[in-house]
Amino acid sequence: MQALTIIRHEHRNMTRVAQALRGLGDRLGNSPSDLDFRKIEYIIDYFEGFTERYHHPKENNFLFARLLQRAGAARPLVERLMRDHEKAPVHLVRMREALTAADIDDATRRARLSEIIAAFHGMIGAHMHSEESELFELARTHLTEDDWREIDAAFASHIDPLDSTEGEGDIALLRQRIMALLPPLDTARPPAGDAAVGAAPAAMMLEVRDLKTRYGRIEALHGVSIAVAEGQLVALVGANGAGKTTLLRCISGVQPASGGDILLRGQSIAARRSHHRVRAGICQVPEGRQVFGPMSIEDNLRMGAFTRRSAGIEDDLEKVYAMFPILKERRTHPAGTLSGGQQQMLALGRALMGRPRILLLDEPSMGLAPVIVEEIFRTIRALKEDGITILLVEQNARAALSIADHAYVLETGYVTLEGPGKELLANDEVRRAYLGM
Ligand code: ATP
Repeated sequence: MQALTIIRHEHRNMTRVAQALRGLGDRLGNSPSDLDFRKIEYIIDYFEGFTERYHHPKENNFLFARLLQRAGAARPLVERLMRDHEKAPVHLVRMREALTAADIDDATRRARLSEIIAAFHGMIGAHMHSEESELFELARTHLTEDDWREIDAAFASHIDPLDSTEGEGDIALLRQRIMALLPPLDTARPPAGDAAVGAAPAAMMLEVRDLKTRYGRIEALHGVSIAVAEGQLVALVGANGAGKTTLLRCISGVQPASGGDILLRGQSIAARRSHHRVRAGICQVPEGRQVFGPMSIEDNLRMGAFTRRSAGIEDDLEKVYAMFPILKERRTHPAGTLSGGQQQMLALGRALMGRPRILLLDEPSMGLAPVIVEEIFRTIRALKEDGITILLVEQNARAALSIADHAYVLETGYVTLEGPGKELLANDEVRRAYLGM
């Protein structure tokens, strides 16, 4: 099911480009420049050169075709989506014609182009939303392992110009032109138009793209892509040795990547050392807590603020104490005297002292009694409600999926499934493999 991850990722890239197009279309009402017209032309080239030549044919010929064979109930939806695919190039031709006719000094013609752009933006936004919210679930339910092998291979074999630094000449050219005119991810406007899509995707806090890493000659991650939007709680589940900890270590920079990219709020951090990533707001709470046993609880918490100037540290300490009163009560005691659950709270509190943009939690429930595990998950939920973005690695798949907005299943270094936490909780494969049902 790797193809679904690739499609979702390509949709995200297309959304970025479509948002840039919409922004240019809206500007046509004021005082556009020659450059704005040139940019619109490049974006039409992108949709014709990538979406029409690679993305849509693969969906039509593999994903849609197989789904039509396997599930009669999917036919109306698939046919509607195929009709959208047929309409898209017609829209693009119309847009190009309106662009050719448009003139800096002719407000009516500019308004016509602006309308076509807005309609195109609304149409592809609604189309991508239908695919992800309706078609993906049908595909997960009805397609066989052989179908997925074929579909995954087809999607893995092409190159998204927004991701790749390689590729054929035309893809490289598309990339060069498009990347120069895109705003960074977090400043991109949410799509307007369709109501469902209007509930806009939040800004992307973290994106991992096609990440690879190796331990000596053994590759442990084989091209993993995940995304965590701002304020989301995303869970990563999988068996022992699947690569979950390795992925967190790559994100925090203690494990080098051998390929791919890691972006924090749209900026690549892949080349930055780990302490720079901490300063940029990535904070990992490691497996096994790793608090400093002989040091006092309060000093452990203060250690969490080591990258900050002193302003606000006392206030944050009080906030952590308000969240975990037991830590305040025992603030002068050595951390080593705390129970396992209390040490987990200390580790969380220490991470919060760094004012993280994103918390990476590695197996916070590991080795704790069930009643303490419940408390830890209540705390994680409260952190999310406070607006903290969280990437949570857990072997306790049931608890993690039930609080996650979105989740990924990692198996032997590959993402094999993804979806909203509650959907994965109901997924037969997940129930069999990770929930013991
Ligand atoms: P667990 O829940 O058991 O921690 P995990 O999903 O976090 O599992 P990782 O610890 O990331 O998995 O391990 C992924 C793979 O990398 C495994 O095959 C593991 O044996 C290997 N691996 C992890 N750390 C090292 C290391 N330091 N040197 C060599 N191989 C390693």
